[in-house]
Amino acid sequence: MPRNTKSPNNPTPKEWLANDLSLQYIADYKAFNFVDGEGIRCSLYVSGCLFHCPGCYNVAAQNFHYGQPYTQELEDQIIEDMHKPYVQGLTLLGGEPFLNTQVCIKICERVRKEFGHTKDIWSWTGYTWDELMKESFDKLKLLSLIDILVDGRFLEEKKDLTLQFRGSSNQRIIKVPESLEQDKVVLWDKLVH
Ligand code: SF4
Repeated sequence: MPRNTKSPNNPTPKEWLANDLSLQYIADYKAFNFVDGEGIRCSLYVSGCLFHCPGCYNVAAQNFHYGQPYTQELEDQIIEDMHKPYVQGLTLLGGEPFLNTQVCIKICERVRKEFGHTKDIWSWTGYTWDELMKESFDKLKLLSLIDILVDGRFLEEKKDLTLQFRGSSNQRIIKVPESLEQDKVVLWDKLVH
């Protein structure tokens, strides 16, 4: 069978901007799950992603119109759920959180206001760390609010279902504050595989 050579899209720096693209729609919200990062987490799935990785785990959420508008009621629900002592933190997924920075910055700032750094924030993104370093102000602002970033497109040729929290071996789990401070990628040191 011929090999599928279709690849994800590769934007130039600042080509895709949340202000032009995001409708501030939410594909899903899952409270108290065990799979979207370390510990028990509340996960917000935003709508819209232009990377269009072949084999994407959530094709429906590539559409910026998918799901429901983000509301204050949902935000209050997330915060209420996160007050449970067993919840370790918030996870942002999609879709692409960095093309939905309006919603993601708002919920991250609220989490910091309510919990300081006693709860952590993880985010997935199709952007690589190096790409984000050349990106728009809103993306860098969102990055500054996150503790752990799982970076990079999903690449079918590097797919590995045994990897912890990642779908393909090019993706990395990055400690964001340390990486920003040292101006280089610092990997999450609790990685098992
Ligand atoms: S970056 Fe993620 S959400 Fe976007 S197309 Fe790729 S796998 Fe799907």
